[in-house]
Amino acid sequence: MTSTALAATLFGPEDLRMVEHPLGKLADGMVRVRFGAGGICGSDMHYFRHARTGDFVVKSPLVLGHEISGEVVEIGGAANLKVGDRVAVNPSRWCGHCVACREGRPNLCENIYFMGSASKTPHMQGGFANYFEAIPAQCVKIPDHVSYQAAALAEPLAVCLHAVARAGNIEGKRGIIFGAGPIGLLTMLAAHRAGMADVTVADIAPAPLAFATRLGASHVENVAGGKEGLKAQAVSRPYDVAFEVSGTAAGLASAIGIVRRGGVVVQIGNLPGGQIPTPSNAVMAKEIDLRGSFRFGFEFMNAVELIADDSVDVLSLVTAERPLSAAPDALRLALDRSQSVKVVLTAN
Ligand SMILES: [Zn+2]
Ligand SMILES: [Zn+2]
Repeated sequence: MTSTALAATLFGPEDLRMVEHPLGKLADGMVRVRFGAGGICGSDMHYFRHARTGDFVVKSPLVLGHEISGEVVEIGGAANLKVGDRVAVNPSRWCGHCVACREGRPNLCENIYFMGSASKTPHMQGGFANYFEAIPAQCVKIPDHVSYQAAALAEPLAVCLHAVARAGNIEGKRGIIFGAGPIGLLTMLAAHRAGMADVTVADIAPAPLAFATRLGASHVENVAGGKEGLKAQAVSRPYDVAFEVSGTAAGLASAIGIVRRGGVVVQIGNLPGGQIPTPSNAVMAKEIDLRGSFRFGFEFMNAVELIADDSVDVLSLVTAERPLSAAPDALRLALDRSQSVKVVLTAN
């Protein structure tokens, strides 16, 4: 058994280094996981560039990574797992007894810990490390035919399943998604599964829109030059639901502006921190249901099942794989939207 782990550790903006961390004795109630694969998320990219994402600011060195999978190599105490189990790792650890947990909304847990996130201080370290720790409840076993790469993407798929659930019954409805990154695209796949009849994807970059078309978008709209095309469409066939995934004030304003009277806007994107101007009177005058969607709850298990039975092809989003040891370069690659959708780190 090795006594150290090599972890992709962020020290400040654009300062990500592979750093050796000592592995302590495994505490009772914990399991040690050998890294299998890790998806690079938009929030990892924000941390990498700015040492913050939204209102979460990196205050001390942070190991990135929350879309992760691997092999159980050590178990402290009893657990419903055994050494050698291959697992998708849910990055959230919720308490199970606060008001939100008791209401069945564990993503809103008051005592939640989330791997690779600066939402709390001290930060909870992430999983871009060749060994990391979890509690057994975070580990969902995957069948042999599921690759670590696919299992790592259960996390972003869970985010999108949750967002679609927040929209309510979308069967037969018409929707629009602002932002054609991995979360936008997986939201589209999840919306299709939930019976949404027609999904338009809007973005300001041509490459991700072309990808959306290949993945089955009903329509794509490039809104870089304005929203006239979108507005024209919305007049003839109004949008019932808008998903804001771009994490921009313009995206949220567009979602509120374009959705039909009485429609639903789901905000998944993490906007820049602080106060964001929004056309709030439209929320009132159109009686829009503006709903937040934050991470996910029990959808994680559902995401693993959908991947295992091939219902959602998460690997269709992967544009590059890089070894964990090359994490800094892999993050730079992921930031280039002209060539990257999802970049996945592998064990080696
Ligand atoms: Zn993520
Ligand atoms: Zn709780």
